[in-house]
Amino acid sequence: MGDRWHVEVDRAVCISSGFCAGSAPEAFRLDAARQSHPREDELDASESVLAAAESCPVEAILIQMAETGDPVFPD
Ligand code: SF4
Repeated sequence: MGDRWHVEVDRAVCISSGFCAGSAPEAFRLDAARQSHPREDELDASESVLAAAESCPVEAILIQMAETGDPVFPD
């Protein structure tokens, strides 16, 4: 079985660019105020989720290994 990631969005930091929901719509959605939310607290590790975190202009997306809490992004 692949790794599972715990994903959070710091909505105090999110500037509503929409990049994450645009590039990984299976993992992120925007609410009515265009603030990003992970669709689940835990997601399968994937390149698209990592790319979304990397493309966030304010590094509002935090990824940790679900099992250990070790940081994935930012590392
Ligand atoms: S890419 Fe970052 S700033 Fe843009 S909506 Fe997603 S979390 Fe917010």
